[in-house]
Amino acid sequence: MNTRGIAILGSTGSIGCNTLRVVEALGTPFHVVALAAGRNVAKLAEQVARHAPELVSVETEECAEELRAALRRQSVPVPRVAVGEAGLVEAATHGRAPVVVSATVGAVGFVPTLRALEAGKRVALANKETLVIAGELMTRAAERTGAELLPVDSEHNALHQCLRGEQRAEVRRLILTASGGPFRTRTREEMARATVAEAMRHPTWTMGEKITIDSATLMNKGLEVIEAHWLFGFPPDAIDVVVHPESVVHSMIELVDGSVIAQLGVTDMRHAIQYALTYPERRAGQLPPLDLTQLAALHFEAPDCARFPCLALAYRALRAGGTSPAALNAANEAAVEAFLTGQIRLTDIPRVIERVLDRHDSRAVTDLEVVLATDAAARAMAGEEIEQVGAGEFARPGS
Ligand code: MG
Repeated sequence: MNTRGIAILGSTGSIGCNTLRVVEALGTPFHVVALAAGRNVAKLAEQVARHAPELVSVETEECAEELRAALRRQSVPVPRVAVGEAGLVEAATHGRAPVVVSATVGAVGFVPTLRALEAGKRVALANKETLVIAGELMTRAAERTGAELLPVDSEHNALHQCLRGEQRAEVRRLILTASGGPFRTRTREEMARATVAEAMRHPTWTMGEKITIDSATLMNKGLEVIEAHWLFGFPPDAIDVVVHPESVVHSMIELVDGSVIAQLGVTDMRHAIQYALTYPERRAGQLPPLDLTQLAALHFEAPDCARFPCLALAYRALRAGGTSPAALNAANEAAVEAFLTGQIRLTDIPRVIERVLDRHDSRAVTDLEVVLATDAAARAMAGEEIEQVGAGEFARPGS
């Protein structure tokens, strides 16, 4: 790649902001071509003033008007402003952006990411839901066009680094590490009483709302198992999870001779982002080096699927195949939203998902329509289950 024009989908989120810091630190020839955000117009206006993209995209017409007004007030030249999913797709397929950072939250990033792969772009993927709901379509599109799919998720980025130079047939299994989240040492009862604020207290990473709740239920790791399956082509039985509270070992691979290779680093997403942007090159980074002498110890333990049923549900969906992971993801998004808005308890999240999986009729993922229909149907089912769970014997206690 000679030109390193970059489009960022989800520019005002945690990964988006970190990507801009990395691009700025890398300097020429890396530069921002397109920024797509949701409704955070104030932050997007700042980013436009600083990075001067050719194209920006926002969620609604009102946001677009607000953005134009904000830029004019600051005497910042107004770039082309697109709106909605069409705007995301325009950013994802921009002719001067060979690299697309896909970092929107949830299912909204799905179609734009697929279009980027169909257009042969390098996709630095932070939106794991995209691979969970349609891994088959994504990897097929990438194979057809030669598009590169580079993981920004820290565990998968670690696996990508560990797998470099190894023969696939000589790798026995992938070992994803999990921090265990804020409830690692809590009882089921304590988890049932958990407030949103407690669930948002992640021990090692600072991230957005949805992924932080997913980390508290271990669904994040479940989604990552499915993500690893599609990125690296390993079957569910060859993908293991180990809880590692310090989050210093980002993941490992085990080779057929028993050797284990690990990638370690400081817990800062800028490392994975930079790797995905500069691969196969390595560039000097901005992060402090990992000081091994400051680490008293590294701990590892088996995940507890009784307290964290979401992990087992994800394996169940992956083994069932077809549209099951898409149904799992949609049910999870709906349940997390219901927890955040006080309709259900944290421990109700896996209950809702399990009921949706029980009801879901898995089909082959043949095209986009099948995936979108599954997503809509599973959300509707989850809505019914949330109402039942929230209103029934498991009603959330007052407060
Ligand atoms: Mg991760």
